[in-house]
Amino acid sequence: MPITFEILEKDIAGRLGKLKAGDKVIRTPALLPVINPHLQPVTAAEMKAMGAEGLITNAYIFSRSREFREKALSLGLHQVLGFDGLIMTDSGSFQLSVYGDVEITNMETLEFQNAIGSDIHVPLDIPTHPDSDRHQAERDLEVTMARLREAKEHLGPDAPLAGPVQGGKFLDLRENAGREAGELGFTFCPIGAVVPLMESYRYGELVDVVMSAKKGIPISSCVHLFGAGHPAMFALAVAMGCDIFDSAAYALYAREGRYLTPSGSAKVQELHELPCPCQVCRTHTVDELMKSPERERLLALHNLQVSLAEIARIRQAIQDGVLWELVDERCRGHPQLLKGYRALLNHGKALEGSDRVSKRRFFYRGAESCERTEVRRFQALLDRLVLPSSVLISLDGREFPGFDLTLPFKPPFGPFMDELRETFPIGQSEIPDWDEVMVASGCRGILRLVETHRECRIVVSCQERWRDIVERMVPGIEVIP
Ligand SMILES: [Zn+2]
Repeated sequence: MPITFEILEKDIAGRLGKLKAGDKVIRTPALLPVINPHLQPVTAAEMKAMGAEGLITNAYIFSRSREFREKALSLGLHQVLGFDGLIMTDSGSFQLSVYGDVEITNMETLEFQNAIGSDIHVPLDIPTHPDSDRHQAERDLEVTMARLREAKEHLGPDAPLAGPVQGGKFLDLRENAGREAGELGFTFCPIGAVVPLMESYRYGELVDVVMSAKKGIPISSCVHLFGAGHPAMFALAVAMGCDIFDSAAYALYAREGRYLTPSGSAKVQELHELPCPCQVCRTHTVDELMKSPERERLLALHNLQVSLAEIARIRQAIQDGVLWELVDERCRGHPQLLKGYRALLNHGKALEGSDRVSKRRFFYRGAESCERTEVRRFQALLDRLVLPSSVLISLDGREFPGFDLTLPFKPPFGPFMDELRETFPIGQSEIPDWDEVMVASGCRGILRLVETHRECRIVVSCQERWRDIVERMVPGIEVIP
């Protein structure tokens, strides 16, 4: 059975969806916790009890394990791990990126993944380090694409295959790789080799890489951000259209004594309180947690619950159409995340096309809000307004005789038809007292109206304090002080 993906609701480029592989269905966005059969601080049964609908494990580890290889082949992965949800298997590419070599071929790993009953198989793609040069990235990508074609040819169009998208930091390679994976019929595309970017907080570059891959990948495909990561970046990644995450972060952070929160992490010994509603945090003091022989396991339990809860929060935000607000909140947790957020806003044109038209609300949260899709889309619609020959745009609520029409003004959007006063975004937007940034943003709307309605006389009436901004933003505009 092929992998299918159904999109139920959208917000920015994020989606609420259903991923189906074989007879397993999971809600997306989803986090697949990583499980290693040799090392299980949290068991698959505990993951299920926490609400994980799927998990990911490494087929290469199973294939090399004296203890688990035969068991997995005879009983199947689901029974060995004790998990009846969706199980995805990685091929050994991760080992390849760490050790530079693996003792398995593409077809061997795929046949093994099939034999142990994995729900989603990953070919042996070549992860290109983001700091590799173009020559290397091209060479690696060629091998990866050849392996994807080999997988499709041998296993057929209906095999539950993932089509990883590589290309290093080269945006055109990422876009082409995504497009080619789509043309080969892959409906599930992991974006690979981005862990080094996330580990070194290079979120600005991460956004450009993901947005480029997304440009090539068909919009109907499910996208997996391989190796992500920290819950603080889930909202940003979902806003770009990533649907699946798979992190081992919950266990890796626990091993280092680190306590995850939705907006960051802390060394547990530096805490005085465990500010979280999970069972571990409500039944232990920091001191007890530190002294517990089970410290690593308890931290892993907490870390995973925080990560899964964040995914649920994101699904709710998409449902409500308030994902931008969650992205805004999370990305203020670290300056590099803020850089990623701003990089995403620079891709506004691409996002505008996938965002939904009506949302529950728009809360103004500062300068970044002016670049949101809702503002861009509102201003783009001003082009289509049919105007009489003379129009007054009133920033101060005053009206004057001699105009055929008076348009009210709301920053950061701009002028609007009075009939739209109650509709989204004008009616559902909450803004504080006007500031220069939002007024300037609204003036972009006036400029757009002026530029697309040259035959019309457009005049602005405003308070003295906004006059400079209006005149600067809309050169040559007539202003009534
Ligand atoms: Zn907790």
